[in-house]
Order: sequence, then structure tokens, then C-alpha cells
Amino acid sequence: MPTPASRPTRSSRRRPAASAAAADARARAEAIFARLSADRPDPHTELRYRDPFTLLVAVVLSAQATDVGVNKATEKLFAVAPTPEAMVALGEEGVREHIKTIGLFRNKAKNVVALSRAILEQHGGQVPREREALEKLPGVGRKTANVVLNEAFGLPTIAVDTHVFRVANRTGLAPGKTPLEVEKKLAEITPERYRKGAHHWLILHGRYVCKARKPACEQCVIRDLCDYYRTSVAKEAGKGS
Ligand code: SF4
Repeated sequence: MPTPASRPTRSSRRRPAASAAAADARARAEAIFARLSADRPDPHTELRYRDPFTLLVAVVLSAQATDVGVNKATEKLFAVAPTPEAMVALGEEGVREHIKTIGLFRNKAKNVVALSRAILEQHGGQVPREREALEKLPGVGRKTANVVLNEAFGLPTIAVDTHVFRVANRTGLAPGKTPLEVEKKLAEITPERYRKGAHHWLILHGRYVCKARKPACEQCVIRDLCDYYRTSVAKEAGKGS
């Protein structure tokens, strides 16, 4: 009979199952990113930008708008206002004129001018490289900060947008109720070497294959690793055969 000291506690009995589940999640992440990265070895944002400042503006404009729509607007905007100084000089009304084809353009114009002013007044005209400082800029939330830190400054941050959130939940790769929960799970299970490209691969997969309304499961390279496919698509196909 085990002594009280050697008797397994309830939490230690749970530990092997929990660590096995964590190992499974990491193995699945490894397999998923290996396949997605083989398709696109060097993924980048589809937003067009010239430097950290224009990237930051483009990402702020991209909330609830398509990258194609944002690129059309910024082509002309950045031709006249490629720097924080020029953006402040252009003013809210001038920015509005260039971005009025994009959703929420009034509020976005206000934020773009305000963040340009803050960059000039508080950061010597340079986009800050720290998350905390970035998130204090008007119109900049955690997702935008993650994109800028990753794309402009090369840090392995994971930005969770609508595509990443959907793919992570549908596949079962990193399920979560909020973007932050999904981001934390992805950070936990994604192997180091895939960390920097992770959100790009998931965004592109969500945009072109695992689409919101009609996922193209039959063309999907990760379908054998996907919970949705296993529980919905394959089951349905089994019924018909
Ligand atoms: S199998 Fe279907 S649902 Fe799963 S990741 Fe691929 S496209 Fe999305």
C-alpha cells in the first residue's frame, strides 16, 4: 500500500493525459505548418507598404476591409503622404478623400492623422518597436501591433485576424473563444522555426482555401489533420457511399 507521500495526487494523475494532449497538439502544429510552408516558403502580408510607417497605416486601414481595397487607396495616399509629417500636413480631410472607398473611413482617417502626430511628438518620427508603445497609438490594437512587429521588425509574433481565428478553431489546431486565447495557444504549440510565418500561412490558407462560407476541403493539403474535415466532411461523404 502506498504511503501518503508516494500516493499519486489527483493533479499528478491528470498530468500524463494533459502532457500527451499537449504533445499531440504540438505534433499536429508541426505537421500543419510543414505542409503550409512547403506551399509558400516565404510568406508576407499582401498589403503594399514602403517602410514601418506605411505598413502601420495600411494595417490600421485594413480592419474590416480587404487588402486589395486598402492597396488601391494607399497607392495614392502614400504617393502624397509617405511620412508622419506629410500625413499630419495632409490632415484628416485630405486623408478621408483618399480612403473613402474603405469601410469606417472617417474614423480611420482620424486615427491615421492622430497616430502620425503621436509618432512625431513621442517617438522622434519613428514607429516604435515595442508592443506597449505601439498599442498606445490611436487605432492600434494587439493584432495591428503583432503584424507590425512581425512584418516590419522581424519578431515571431502571431497576429490573429478573422482568418487565423477561423482556421485555428475549425481545424482544432488552436481552439479559443477570443483572438487572444487563440494567439496564446498558437504561440504555445507552434515550433520555433514556424513562429514568424505562422499567421501568414494561416491567413493565406483562410483567405484562399479554408474560406468562411465554403471551405475548399477537397483541395486542402491539411484535411487529414483537420477536425472539421474529420467530423463533418468525411462523415457526410461516408453516409453517401
Ligand atoms: S479541410 Fe476544409 S475546413 Fe479543414 S482546413 Fe482544410 S479547407 Fe478548412
